[in-house]
Amino acid sequence: TPTVGVLALQGDTAEHLRVLGVLGVPAVPVLHPEDLDRVDGLILPGGESTTMSKLAARYDLVEPLRKHIGDGMPAYGTCAGMILLADRILDGAADQQTLGGLDITARRNAFGRQTESFEAGIDVDGVGGDPFEAVFIRAPWVESVGERVRVLGQIAYGERAGRIVAVRQGGLLATSFHPELTGDPRIHRLFVDMVKGQA
Ligand code: GLN
Repeated sequence: TPTVGVLALQGDTAEHLRVLGVLGVPAVPVLHPEDLDRVDGLILPGGESTTMSKLAARYDLVEPLRKHIGDGMPAYGTCAGMILLADRILDGAADQQTLGGLDITARRNAFGRQTESFEAGIDVDGVGGDPFEAVFIRAPWVESVGERVRVLGQIAYGERAGRIVAVRQGGLLATSFHPELTGDPRIHRLFVDMVKGQA
């Protein structure tokens, strides 16, 4: 069984560790560069992407993260974590840098303010069963994708219909929403299968 790390700078780290625990997957927080040598895959949680970028710089994690991601370490970014993985962002803060790796343009806070947080059922390609009950909290959407990126999920109904909220490029997975908050482990299981090389 692989060990999955969860970036522990800020945000929903504990919730991701808990879901991995429910799945019986060894999981550890990642806060220092050497922690990255002990994990087979990494989750970048939701939270606040500008804060996470600043903390990543303070903990000397920016280049180690870029190197591991560039060398093929599987990674899954949720919400702010999607922004961190995006090669390009729109509506970022002044000088906001990302780690990159995922050939997408993510629009930050695209769905509106905190008070406009919402839930929606999303059919996620590769996740069987009922639509995934997805929680969006000041979430980004994927404005555009490069040709190596596969769209896994879009909003189905309403004024936001068609907005891309789940993508994959090789070992990199990203969702606009927060699967760690709903008690449904199916997307974590997909990522663990990716880390195992089984998905
Ligand atoms: N709006 C946040 C950001 O830009 C992301 C919100 C979230 O992760 N729930 O980083």
